[in-house]
Amino acid sequence: MIHGGIRYLENGEFRLVSESVDERNDLLKTAPHYVKPLKTTIPIFTTFSGLLSGSVGFLSRRRAERTERGAALIKVGLTVYDAFSRRRGSVPRHRFVGRTTALREMPMLHPGLRYAATYFDASVHNPERLTLDVLSSGLEANPSARASNYVSVRSMGPDGILLRDESTGTDFGFTADVILNVTGVWVDETNAASGSPTAYMGGTKGSHIVLDHPLLLKACAGREVFFEHSDGRIVLIYPIGERVLVGTTDIEPSEDEPVGEAVCTEEEIDYFFDLIAHVFPAITVDRSAIVYSFSGVRPCPATRISSPG
Ligand SMILES: Cc1cc2nc3c(=O)[nH]c(=O)nc-3n(C[C@H](O)[C@H](O)[C@H](O)COP(=O)(O)OP(=O)(O)OC[C@H]3O[C@@H](n4cnc5c(N)ncnc54)[C@H](O)[C@@H]3O)c2cc1C
Repeated sequence: MIHGGIRYLENGEFRLVSESVDERNDLLKTAPHYVKPLKTTIPIFTTFSGLLSGSVGFLSRRRAERTERGAALIKVGLTVYDAFSRRRGSVPRHRFVGRTTALREMPMLHPGLRYAATYFDASVHNPERLTLDVLSSGLEANPSARASNYVSVRSMGPDGILLRDESTGTDFGFTADVILNVTGVWVDETNAASGSPTAYMGGTKGSHIVLDHPLLLKACAGREVFFEHSDGRIVLIYPIGERVLVGTTDIEPSEDEPVGEAVCTEEEIDYFFDLIAHVFPAITVDRSAIVYSFSGVRPCPATRISSPG
C-alpha cells in the first residue's frame, strides 16, 4: 500500500498524515505506471461507538480505552483525510452508504453491518520496480552516482568504511563526506559493526498470506476491504492480481527469531482466517488456498510501551 497514513489520524499525528498524503498523491502523478488508486471499503457495525476514545486521541494525542470505531468516528476521520488530500488532490472524496447499498455492491459482506464507507488510497503491486525507477532517475540525474546491490557494510575505521561484495567475497574500502546508515531494522547491528553501538531500533513483526480463492476475490469486488477486527486491530483483505492478500499482524518479534528470518506462524494464519470470517462469514477458507506467506519486522524506534503495535 502507498497509504496516506489514515491510521495515524487517531493518534492526532496530523503532520505525519499530511506528509504521507502528499507523498501518495505525488507518486500517483509521477509513477502512474506502478502506483494506482486503491478503492477501499470499510464495513461499519456501530454508529457512535469509539467517538469519545477517538476524540481523546485526536485532541490530546493520548491513548484512551479502546472501543469499536463506529460510523460517526470514521466519518470524521475520512472528512479530515479528504481535507488533507485536497491540496494536491488526485483521488475522489469518500462516500458513505447504508446497509442496503453496501450489500448490493458487495453482497458477501457480513449482513449485520450498518454502513460502509469507501475512500481511496493507492497501491503498488511491484514495489521493487518502483525502487529501480527511483535508482535510474538518480543515476541519470548525476553521472558520478553509482548504485550497487549485494554489497554489505562490514566495519568502519579511520580510513572510511569497509564494504564487502557479497557475490565474490571481496572486501574494499570506501570514503565519503557523509555516510547514511539506512539499514532499516538492522541499523543497530550496522552501527555496532561500525564501532558505534546504538539501541535505536525496536519494531513489530507483520505477516501476510496470499490466497488463491476465487470466491473471496469476487467478494472483494476489486476493492481493498479495510476494517477493525475483534481485537481492535485494523486489518485488510486486498485483491492482488488473481489472488487475495490478507494481513496483517502487528506483534512483538520472537526473541529467538533473527529479524531477517521472521516467518508467518500457524497462529497468525488462524488469525487471518478468523478476520476473513469477521467480514465475510459465508466464505470458508482453509490452508490449501495459501499460495505463499510473507513476514517482516517493521523498522520502528525502540519503545518500552506494553503494546508496541
Ligand atoms: C509485513 C510488512 C508489511 C508492510 N507493508 C507496508 C505497506 O503496505 N506500505 C508501506 O508503506 N510500508 C509497509 N511496511 C513498512 C515498510 O516495509 C518499511 O517502512 C520500509 O521498508 C522501511 O524502509 P527502509 O529503507 O528504512 O528499510 P528496509 O526496507 O528494511 O531496507 C534496509 C536495507 O538495508 C539492508 N542492510 C541491512 N544490513 C546491511 C549492511 N550491514 N550492509 C548493507 N545493507 C544492509 C537490508 O538488506 C535492506 O535491504 C511493511 C512492513 C512489513 C514488515
